[in-house]
Amino acid sequence: MQKKIWLPENEMPTHWYNVVADMPNAPAPPLGPDGQPVGPDALSAIFPQAIIEQEMSAERWIKIPDEVREKLLLWRPTPLVRATELEKALGTPCKIFFKNEAVSPAGSHKPNSAIPQAYYNKQEGVKRLITETGAGQWGSSLALAGNMFDLDVRICMVKVSYDQKPYRRLLMQTWGGNVFASPTDMTQVGRDVLTKDPDSQGSLGIAIAEAVEEAGGNPEANYALGSVLNHVLLHQTIIGQEAKKQLEMVGEYPDMVFAPSGGGSNLGGLAFPFFADKAAGKDVRLVGVEPTSCPSLTKGEYTYDYGDSSGLTPMMKMYTLGHDFMPPGIHAGGLRYHGQSALVSQLHHEGLLEAMAVGQTETFEAGVLFARTEGIVPAPESNHAIAAVIQEALRCKETGEAKTLLFNLSGHGHFDMSSYDRFFKGELEDYEYPEEAIKASLATLPKF
Ligand SMILES: *Cc1c(COP(=O)(O)O)cnc(C)c1O
Repeated sequence: MQKKIWLPENEMPTHWYNVVADMPNAPAPPLGPDGQPVGPDALSAIFPQAIIEQEMSAERWIKIPDEVREKLLLWRPTPLVRATELEKALGTPCKIFFKNEAVSPAGSHKPNSAIPQAYYNKQEGVKRLITETGAGQWGSSLALAGNMFDLDVRICMVKVSYDQKPYRRLLMQTWGGNVFASPTDMTQVGRDVLTKDPDSQGSLGIAIAEAVEEAGGNPEANYALGSVLNHVLLHQTIIGQEAKKQLEMVGEYPDMVFAPSGGGSNLGGLAFPFFADKAAGKDVRLVGVEPTSCPSLTKGEYTYDYGDSSGLTPMMKMYTLGHDFMPPGIHAGGLRYHGQSALVSQLHHEGLLEAMAVGQTETFEAGVLFARTEGIVPAPESNHAIAAVIQEALRCKETGEAKTLLFNLSGHGHFDMSSYDRFFKGELEDYEYPEEAIKASLATLPKF
């Protein structure tokens, strides 16, 4: 019988890999409201010093603190699995491998960054972390991490999700997180919204604005972000480093590497360590997969834009659909972001990282086939990578190419079963590419 799973014993990377060191051009700097690059001081009201240094660093290797590695060892290294049953079902000559990030306590890759972020804040004397969450993946990861380092964690959860998705809220509460339905009456932003509309269902933009306001106004509190920023992608690079080692144990190297891309953190996490080889001349294709309904990399503009919908954050040069673009209500909540990480965006712009978009129905068909062959029920976000891998595996079946394909199973779908329910009932919508809405929102890009 063929071996299926590779798990190097307690072999977890000692350093994070910083892709900036190998990029052909220095990253475009974030800009403040005056159009000038923002310095570290502008960030110190809401982030600890160590995180700000990582955000701006060009060092290739950054040491992972022992206290952080110790916590990550609770579930890492994560398995590398060969999807032999999926291969058989597709009848493809390709070898398909996936990195299983669903085995973390929160069920996704997000704790890989939540834990170091909580650690550095604790080190610098911060008492409270504040964040926002949509569907709850990031909020639950930060609640887990805050509990590990004895920090008070407050999560502004978009009201509609707070009401409709009680299980992730309860997960946050189980790990000691304080969850508030946003808009709250604790912040000026929230009170203003509630004055205008007492029944407001909230939005991610409002929740971010509330979290940033509360963190900025309290010297003992900081803010934490679960994707997009350089330091978050840095923390996720343990995924790709482990995968490389595990593939080496099998004597394999991928021709193509796939990951779903919302803000770009699990994509950067898996793909950047392979980019190091690509920069050194190796032939490997890196592919981010996004929804056709929120296609920042494939249909967005590469320009400076705000990271949030209210224009509070510095401007970042990225592929964006416009900061006030409101994506359709697709079930992959983690992929409903108007922009993309600046690092992923720049590599895409330079032709070093590819992107493709897939429709919602196709992603759930892929997820169900995966569950019925490999057993694991994937998160709707992960289904995007699976759909892309299936497309490639079937293409290779036509051409007879036997490629090695690697993808990130970024999370499991146990809290997303109502989305699968909609799919089984045939109620899932395949949104058209929202061309008009994107045009309108791109017209509001900041000008300077
Ligand atoms: C949040 C999330 C994503 C998307 O976020 P990235 O920062 O792009 O990685 C993908 N998959 C899962 C399971 C998530 O929770």
